[in-house]
Amino acid sequence: MIRRGRGLVQLPGPTNIPDRVLRALARPSVDFGTPGFAELVAGCLDELARILGTRGRVYAYAALGHGAWEAALVNLVRPGETVLVPETGRFATGWAEMAESLGIRVVRVPTDMRRPVDPGPVEAALRADREGRIRCLLAVHVETSTGIRHDPRILRAVLDAVGHPALLVVDAIASLASIPLEMDGWGIDVVVAGSQKGLMLPPGLSFVAAGPRALEVARTGGQPRRYWDWRGRDGAESYERFYGTPPVQMIFALREALDMLAEEGLPAVFARHARLAGAVRAAVARWSESGAIGFHCLDPDARADTVTALAFAPGIEPDPLRERARERYGVAFGGGIGPFRGRLLRIGHLGDLDEAMVLGALGVFELVLRESRVPYGRGGVEAAVAALAGR
Ligand SMILES: *Cc1c(COP(=O)(O)O)cnc(C)c1O
Repeated sequence: MIRRGRGLVQLPGPTNIPDRVLRALARPSVDFGTPGFAELVAGCLDELARILGTRGRVYAYAALGHGAWEAALVNLVRPGETVLVPETGRFATGWAEMAESLGIRVVRVPTDMRRPVDPGPVEAALRADREGRIRCLLAVHVETSTGIRHDPRILRAVLDAVGHPALLVVDAIASLASIPLEMDGWGIDVVVAGSQKGLMLPPGLSFVAAGPRALEVARTGGQPRRYWDWRGRDGAESYERFYGTPPVQMIFALREALDMLAEEGLPAVFARHARLAGAVRAAVARWSESGAIGFHCLDPDARADTVTALAFAPGIEPDPLRERARERYGVAFGGGIGPFRGRLLRIGHLGDLDEAMVLGALGVFELVLRESRVPYGRGGVEAAVAALAGR
């Protein structure tokens, strides 16, 4: 079948890439050894620091988010030392498993994965650590597998209440440049981020921002490392900053994306994400009236403005719905991952997105529900329109 029009990726990553960014990626190579290119890189990293709200250092890697996870761990934690991980979903557990494969001990705090992290058990785990073995608290800001936003400020408050010196290390891969995040203001020591979500770039660049306490730990602590080592990446030359050839076209693309964010203004970027997320939630709430579909996240205030996870009544399989939306109508939705494989459908709503795209994606989903004879509350798109119209 020949399909016309433009496909949409309503995935929580990779996200839709704006034409301006695609054009930047198509630029020819340049000599990266010039002062001009070094300034381009430095300017991008400075701007990322501003977006993150930190006076700390931002390191960029030609790597996926998983690489940035590893970078944070090997710079901060020795084999045999301990990290604390609230198990909020597939990404938190994946990070914990990575730590274990690096010889790091992991104290897990289970959660029900349908609500934001409960500070009580985290506090108990910190209090139980009388010898101060826990070096880092690893937390995921938006747990992309569940669509739940976990406020890092709550974890900061718990660390402070206990007086525990562990560093607060936050995965902001699904929240950077989409919803508010104030690294220094919220007392976060390290932020891990990636390119293919709010930054509207392809996968392949990732970032770790480190504040003064983390940099101090990394000076003498952490594991044997080279590529990831912050200490080797402070030089002015872009070859040093990347510990090898800088990914030239990705840096052009990053510059373009940062310009686009600056033109719109971060507060407006956040407001757009909140508005569009509100439209998605209005549609889902209407569809839910049948009882066959519902929000995975049971706390309305913790539903993330970047991704919404839908749960289904027994007997309704989300994956065939996704397949039909993708193959017949060119709209890709995310599936369930980790413990939620085959059970959830995730609508990504972050990055380069507007009303037309969101309404189109919601309309296609409603069409697929109808064609698939899934019982759903009628009028989801109308509810989204009403939310966008402000009534
Ligand atoms: C996407 C994502 C990751 C993984 O990023 P990769 O680039 O695929 O390695 C990690 N954490 C969160 C919260 C994510 O959304």
